[in-house]
Amino acid sequence: MPKQDLLKKFAALAVQVGANVQPDQEVWVNATTDTVELARLIVEAAYDAGAKKVSVNWSDDYVSHSGYLHRTIENLQDIPEWFIQKYQTFVDAGGCVISISSPIPGLNQDVDPEKLQKAGIASMRALHFYREHMMGNRAQWTIVAAPNPVWAKRVFPDLDEADAVEALWDAILQASRVTKDNDPIAEWAKHNERLLAHNKILNDHQFKSLHFQNSAGTDLIVELVENHVWAGGGEHNTQGVYFNPNIPTEENFTMPYKFGTQGKVVATKPLNYQGNLIEDFWLEFKDGQVVDYDAKKQKQALKNLLEFDEGSSYLGEVALISHDSPISNANILFFNTLFDENASCHLALGRAYPMNVQGGTNMTPDELAKLGSNNSMAHSDFMFGSADMNIVGTKQDGSTVQIFKDGNFVI
Ligand code: ZN
Ligand code: ZN
Repeated sequence: MPKQDLLKKFAALAVQVGANVQPDQEVWVNATTDTVELARLIVEAAYDAGAKKVSVNWSDDYVSHSGYLHRTIENLQDIPEWFIQKYQTFVDAGGCVISISSPIPGLNQDVDPEKLQKAGIASMRALHFYREHMMGNRAQWTIVAAPNPVWAKRVFPDLDEADAVEALWDAILQASRVTKDNDPIAEWAKHNERLLAHNKILNDHQFKSLHFQNSAGTDLIVELVENHVWAGGGEHNTQGVYFNPNIPTEENFTMPYKFGTQGKVVATKPLNYQGNLIEDFWLEFKDGQVVDYDAKKQKQALKNLLEFDEGSSYLGEVALISHDSPISNANILFFNTLFDENASCHLALGRAYPMNVQGGTNMTPDELAKLGSNNSMAHSDFMFGSADMNIVGTKQDGSTVQIFKDGNFVI
């Protein structure tokens, strides 16, 4: 365990920079039974920031796993009214959310994929309003991470369990810019400034499309929606409160035009989907939709993702990350999207973020769809960046600008 004061700094970062908890606001903390220590520190830090009431939604992935094994598909799809009402009450109270991510890789490998799929769809349908509320930035939300023994052993297989957990804590804190000697809150102010500078350059160009090429076999053209907005770093909620959805974050990202992606993309890191690790995969796009694909491992899980709903075989996000970034340089495969997506350029299958188009957060789903914004109940990021990635942007007038050369920003 790192020193208690290091974890306290991390908790304060989650509360003040992550969710930016406001005086008299209600706070939800989503935590697992593996993350009790950090959860308690976050609760305390949230009250320090003036929260009115802080509640923890505890979960235990092993309990959920038993449920998937023993409950019927019908039973898994039965979401009780009181559960939905709990979310509605929280939304009405204007609360903000701090989630501690601590996934257990491979845990659901022995579960019938159809059960995971159907249970996932039922839960997302029932809580659609909540997801719209949060993804539309109507309240602040943030995700931080904490280790669990299984995850730590997956990342550091050669260490014994206690050392692996310790090493994963170190890596998480390092990636989150929390060190013994620094003031992480001041550090994040500087980091946000750098990300905002790239957003501005990219927004001023208003590229029609981006062309990605590398030696792994990626040759992909991603058209962007008109009036797209590059975002990254902090965001404002609809009441103007500045917050950081992800800690860490290194990405500048925007909205692809739903029907405008052509060519092949080869993933450069595995994708963890519903507890299954999809490895060595590629996707071929035509007019925005995946028309062919393969994976050396867990092809069935990839199929489940692509067939999750109508929008899950189209893109909802394109993100640029310099290969020369702290997470990438640490050269650790975290088996966790929160970290791995920040090591490398990535795309997301599924829902687009309304904030990535001008005026988007005030539009209805129909208005967004008309602009070519993808809608889906899925949103899964996968990495395809590399040290030799080249990206060329084509502007509305046909002129081109080199954006990445050999893996890094050159604008
Ligand atoms: Zn992203
Ligand atoms: Zn994403």
